[in-house]
Amino acid sequence: MTEKMLTFVHLEQKYPHKRDADERRRDFDEIYQGFETDAAASQSSRCSQCGVPFCQAHCPLYNNIPDWLRLTTEGRLEEAYQISAATNNMPEVTGRICPQDRLCEGNCVIEQSTHGAVTIGSVEKYLTDNAFANGWVKVPAPTSENGMSIGIIGGGPAGMAAAEQLRLKGYAVHIYDRYDRIGGLLVYGIPGFKLEKHIVERRVKLLEDAGVVMHTEFEVGRDATLAQLRAKHDSILIATGVYKSRDLMVPGVGLKNVYPALDYLTVSNRHGLGDAVPAYEDGTLNAQGKNVVVIGGGDTAMDCVRTAVRQGAKSVKCLYRRDRANMPGSQREVANAEEEGVEFVWLTNPEAFVGDDAVTGVRAVKMRLGAPDAGGRQTPEIIPDSSYTMDADMVILALGFEPEDLPALFEAPELGVSRWGTVKIDFRSMMTNLDGVFAAGDIARGASLVVWAIRDGRDAADRMDEYLLARKDVAA
Ligand SMILES: Cc1cc2nc3c(=O)[nH]c(=O)nc-3n(C[C@H](O)[C@H](O)[C@H](O)COP(=O)(O)OP(=O)(O)OC[C@H]3O[C@@H](n4cnc5c(N)ncnc54)[C@H](O)[C@@H]3O)c2cc1C
Ligand code: SF4
Repeated sequence: MTEKMLTFVHLEQKYPHKRDADERRRDFDEIYQGFETDAAASQSSRCSQCGVPFCQAHCPLYNNIPDWLRLTTEGRLEEAYQISAATNNMPEVTGRICPQDRLCEGNCVIEQSTHGAVTIGSVEKYLTDNAFANGWVKVPAPTSENGMSIGIIGGGPAGMAAAEQLRLKGYAVHIYDRYDRIGGLLVYGIPGFKLEKHIVERRVKLLEDAGVVMHTEFEVGRDATLAQLRAKHDSILIATGVYKSRDLMVPGVGLKNVYPALDYLTVSNRHGLGDAVPAYEDGTLNAQGKNVVVIGGGDTAMDCVRTAVRQGAKSVKCLYRRDRANMPGSQREVANAEEEGVEFVWLTNPEAFVGDDAVTGVRAVKMRLGAPDAGGRQTPEIIPDSSYTMDADMVILALGFEPEDLPALFEAPELGVSRWGTVKIDFRSMMTNLDGVFAAGDIARGASLVVWAIRDGRDAADRMDEYLLARKDVAA
């Protein structure tokens, strides 16, 4: 046994109760690089095969986790991969970026019994990375063509998952995306230190090799209307995600160097991808040497603070109006950010951004949690006379996202949307109010998770297939 493996076994034996999921994940991902097979088998063997797979029930894809853990323990890695891939179009992605502490791992019975969850995500990621390395991942090409064509608007995880499932069923599939790369937020939102971009590119290439036609830099609304696409294809899937940043209405919000989170993250991701990005190179959207203040308490805010640290910011603060226990972001991400030197300023809200031309500070006010609202969540209240100003050369607003006005954008005023602007679908058929037009992912569900986008994409593919086969029967 190697020295590294001996250390791993030693730690597992010495501190089985004390080491939390994060420590185990770090061991798996960092210390045991090159020894992942041993680490995967070691982690998988910790699964008690309890017979009440809460992990599976809390995975949006209902992944057959106990079976692939058992096969991994037995060294049957190709079979384990096949089972993992049977319900998931990109296990190497979800294994990396699912908030497992809220999903599968958080509900592992071993975790519940305080012994620390099996690192399901790390094993899932390993199985597919290993399958790619061994040539076990096959191009999702159909055995025969069925003569029908599908247009998918949006090449994020929902669009990609639907494209794969529909292509396998024999449809000609076209993805239209306004970006220059396919992948949606997997490419331009989520930072590369959480999800390496070549992992996404590898998936996109598989789809291209299967014959999915990618129309990049094609914006529906600018380059074609929805009606024009409907005339071209037998059915349409809208999977455009949600991109309108929530605003903050305080004085000074228009000052220079106050940016929406996605502008900041997109520039950083483009730079990481090797694109020429003047806004990064001239220092505009680069945190190096700056006092950065990020406003918000969700996962996007965590991505911004951790990106700013990596860019060499002088200081990074995260302002959130509630306390740690009530923040929407993952506790794991907060712990990671704290470890990296981010200062969290809880129960604090910006009152104004100060500066003449560019921002020089944030005037903040202290908050306390008051009476619960109708939903049972305590409402933050301002503590009078508690204002103070902190230095800031760069402010990033990470307050969440809303849908764009799709009926106007697509020149389709008849397209039904909810009062939040999400595209309305019938939850059984996943069809909008327009015949043959379906919707999936964030644009139908509201800002959510990659794993839910994959699930929606898969479900939409099945519903579209049922719809088109039924229509074909009627026509015959
Ligand atoms: C910063 C950030 C970090 C995140 N981190 C995580 C994480 O760690 N884990 C996790 O599970 N989830 C995370 N999420 C959420 C996750 O990324 C989304 O839930 C998921 O990507 C939604 O997938 P989607 O396919 O519905 O939309 P998207 O991924 O948004 O893809 C939509 C695509 O549609 C295209 N499009 C939009 N409008 C048009 C148009 N008019 N014409 C043509 N194309 C169009 C866009 O260019 C885009 O490529 C994060 C989100 C953000 C913003
Ligand atoms: S897809 Fe996400 S929730 Fe499901 S098993 Fe994988 S990491 Fe866990």
